[in-house]
Amino acid sequence: MTPLTLYNSLTRTTELFEPADPADVRIYSCGPTVYHYAHIGNLRAYLFTDTLGRVLTWKGYGLTHVINITDVGHLTSDADAGDDKMEAAARASGQDIWAIAAHYTAAFKANLKDLNVRDPARFPLATDHVGPMIAFGEAIAERHCYQLADGLYFDTSTVPDYGRLAGLRDEGPVEGRIETVAGKRHPADFAIWRTSAPGENRQMEWDSPWGRGAPGWHLECSVMSRQYLGAHFDIHTGGIDHREIHHPNEIAQNQAFSGTADTGATVWMHNNFLVNRTGKVSKSAGDALILPALVERGFHPLAYRLMCLQAHYRSELEFSWENLAAAQTRLKRYVQTVAALRARGEAKGAAAATPYRERLDAALSDDLNTPRALPVLDELLADKRISPADRLAALADFDAVFGLGLTTLAREDLRVRPASAGIDAAGVAARLAERREARAAKDFPRSDAIRDELAALGVEVMDGDPLGWDWAIAIPPAA
Ligand code: AMP
Ligand code: ZN
Repeated sequence: MTPLTLYNSLTRTTELFEPADPADVRIYSCGPTVYHYAHIGNLRAYLFTDTLGRVLTWKGYGLTHVINITDVGHLTSDADAGDDKMEAAARASGQDIWAIAAHYTAAFKANLKDLNVRDPARFPLATDHVGPMIAFGEAIAERHCYQLADGLYFDTSTVPDYGRLAGLRDEGPVEGRIETVAGKRHPADFAIWRTSAPGENRQMEWDSPWGRGAPGWHLECSVMSRQYLGAHFDIHTGGIDHREIHHPNEIAQNQAFSGTADTGATVWMHNNFLVNRTGKVSKSAGDALILPALVERGFHPLAYRLMCLQAHYRSELEFSWENLAAAQTRLKRYVQTVAALRARGEAKGAAAATPYRERLDAALSDDLNTPRALPVLDELLADKRISPADRLAALADFDAVFGLGLTTLAREDLRVRPASAGIDAAGVAARLAERREARAAKDFPRSDAIRDELAALGVEVMDGDPLGWDWAIAIPPAA
């Protein structure tokens, strides 16, 4: 096998991956803030970590993966300003904050299932770890923190190399990058604990040595990663935005707690953003780009997974309905090819799939280069020197990494019905059977009438479709 190399944001280079224990690679991924549905940009972050995990498994490593759920503490600005996102959502909707957190956590997990993202070992909740967070704060308070009226703040000048991950040394001082809270010693200092203001009406509050209030956002990840993966683990992941503030702050906390320069993880990895023409896809853009909205428009969730795999995780990926439609067509082609290979059964072939497996391994081992790996699958499927049975076996092996469900997806699964469609699959099948009868009887006016009738219901009949798809529910143009 090719040795695995991964890009480490800490050194800004691609490095040979050398886990402490290959039988148990330990990975922590910063999880979603559950005040709203995860948008498909957020989901790109977990498709990335799932690909990372699948590649590790495929290459024979063991794995312990943790994804936390942020249900307290994340402010409307990453830089310790504004309101708690959870409290703001609860106030705006008039709902119980715990119910909001439970609802969006369940929705997030359902999205991951729909995308074939494998379950991590754990999904710890921040609010289940407030006791250990307070203990962590107590351990570092004297040497690394100072108290302001609104809470306990971390003094970033007390740890070595603050901001190394963000590349701040190369890009000038942090002044101006981070909003200032009155009284902070340095602009980059951040809250370990936020004390509720007199009269502030918070639904989530705990007692602490620094007053009644709630933990700062960064604290939860230092505490939970340490609790479940140890003081030093192999890989820490998050979106590229976390490279600037959240992860440098986690590192500062880890260094304060251990009293060393150890950042807490060997490799820090960051996925780039999903963007659209208006910029970074964000939750404030509303519900247009959540996974169920894609399904409502006639797209299968795994078409989105394939769209993400077609880009390298460190590249920006532009979302458009056209790109998604192209990915769905590619997925349909895979499903048709698999069906055709199955129909051909045990025919003999002269060649083995091994060279393709080696090429797949080389692409994936090069910092998870999925856009280079996917065409290897296409070439394998098309190689007539390899028997259909061997191609199918190799496909199952490859799909353990891609997670596209290629061994189980059926045509019917891909005939996703947009909410706007006026007919279901059984109805279409019945009308098409009538149309075949009409054509057999050379009753072309009747055959055309059925076709028009289906078109009026949003169903496109595709005679002679090269993929043999027969019919599709027309996807309405983007709004
Ligand atoms: P949040 O729920 O805001 O805490 O974000 C969850 C994860 O999604 C984090 O790792 C973010 O860095 C990541 N993320 C946020 N927006 C995007 C985006 N447009 N594209 C890719 N990842 C994103
Ligand atoms: Zn985190």
